[in-house]
Amino acid sequence: MTIPPRRQPPLSPGAVIGVLGGGQLGRMLGEAASRLGFDLVVLDPEPASPAARVAARQITAAYGDADALDALGRVSDVVTFEFENVPAASVARLAAGGALVAPGPRALAIAQDRVEEKTFLNAAGAATVDFGAVDSTDDLRRALAELGAPALLKTRREGYDGKGQAWVRSADEIDAAWAAVGGRPSILEARADFRRELSIIAARGWDGSVAIFPLGENRHADGILRTTLAPAAADAATAAAAQDIAARVLNGLDYVGVIGIELFDLGDRLLVNEIAPRVHNTGHWTQDGCACDQFEQHIRAITGWPLGPTAPHAAVEMTNLLGAEVGAWPELAAAPDARLHLYGKAEARPDRKMGHVNRLRPLSADAAQD
Ligand code: AMP
Repeated sequence: MTIPPRRQPPLSPGAVIGVLGGGQLGRMLGEAASRLGFDLVVLDPEPASPAARVAARQITAAYGDADALDALGRVSDVVTFEFENVPAASVARLAAGGALVAPGPRALAIAQDRVEEKTFLNAAGAATVDFGAVDSTDDLRRALAELGAPALLKTRREGYDGKGQAWVRSADEIDAAWAAVGGRPSILEARADFRRELSIIAARGWDGSVAIFPLGENRHADGILRTTLAPAAADAATAAAAQDIAARVLNGLDYVGVIGIELFDLGDRLLVNEIAPRVHNTGHWTQDGCACDQFEQHIRAITGWPLGPTAPHAAVEMTNLLGAEVGAWPELAAAPDARLHLYGKAEARPDRKMGHVNRLRPLSADAAQD
């Protein structure tokens, strides 16, 4: 097969953006893309996915379907993903076939494996908790002796929202913890004694330019994000440390696009918990707090447009609407300080992310100066 010559960034309005994954992140990427005159083509196994309903076209197929991937690559001027569990091999196939892919396969592969991820982060100068790779109960016993209890056992791959994790409080719990992760290749992490959880959303363009949004402070319940407050109250040293981490991660991955970086704030230093090579739930506040939100920023980055401004014009409290909570939409729609974002999902299963609400708050004088 001859590969047609590709358009190179900067892509003009009218260009086609391919997206692997059709969830709410893809939907909001589609809204931003269409505002800038681009067309979205979504590949997702579920017909009528949330993103497909704002896209020009959906290819309904498994993420590993070679023909579907080739079709997506042929119609797209650039391909991205909104879901970090798409097979790295699929992204590699697109790139090998001549498609422009951003972020690239390496960033995806690193973020998919918690051991690779922490190894990369430490090498890049972004500190994490101490950890050990665990492939057996013997490994777990050794790692627990080294790291001390309590420690957190997580599957290396495909964990999200706190799933596939078990605390190990003593050597007596080794067998139970190993069973809880299904005996899969895992990582044992030292416990981070954090004061709060922060995140930073940042972007890098094809030309290496970097733009970083202010920090958000996140609250989770049962491993699922409930709220983000942004800009987070943070002293200058904390803000500078977070920006340094973001730059190290972006440059170390030769990254193009938006990334979400979750941080533990220990009071005197920041540790990276994990990186998500995509737009991120903790960045939804930017939709109503910044002139250029994280979705537009991602579209700008991957199409080679100049990165947009990241200064906030409002403080925002973002709350996820999980499952039946979405039924509160009539009251939320009537609240003057609430900006409602719904994902168009038909079935409100428990804990399913159905939408979010951004409540606007006055911006503190400090944050306005950032
Ligand atoms: P994760 O799936 O890695 O984002 O973990 C989900 C949540 O578990 C985090 O948001 C933290 O609240 C908590 N957590 C994860 N790793 C650690 C750790 N090493 N020490 C303490 N708490 C952790």
